[in-house]
Amino acid sequence: MIEFPKKPTKKKRKVHAKSIMQRKDGTCYLCKWLHDDWTRHELHEHHVFGGVANRTLSEQYGLKVYLCLEHHLMGAEAVHKNKDSMDLVRREGQKAFERNYPELDFVEVFGKNYL
Ligand SMILES: [Zn+2]
Ligand SMILES: [Zn+2]
Repeated sequence: MIEFPKKPTKKKRKVHAKSIMQRKDGTCYLCKWLHDDWTRHELHEHHVFGGVANRTLSEQYGLKVYLCLEHHLMGAEAVHKNKDSMDLVRREGQKAFERNYPELDFVEVFGKNYL
């Protein structure tokens, strides 16, 4: 008897591989935003909202930005070192969320308003 491969019956998980905030084209989100610098870098993926729960939500909704090493971890403007940079990325993250998912309430999902 020939068995045909079964169609996958797994529920589709709602995973957004891609960022809704930025195209992955080698440029750094903060280089562009702060310095209008479109140089291509080795990029790090940064989840906009941290903590265990919100990191998962950031992944699910595509709230990620791509940053150069300086703007991610090392430099004075790095999101993990500089509150202004962190706030900026979160504010833009919330705006992107509200644009992309008008049916959802950001504060209900993430528990806080960043605007
Ligand atoms: Zn940068
Ligand atoms: Zn990060």
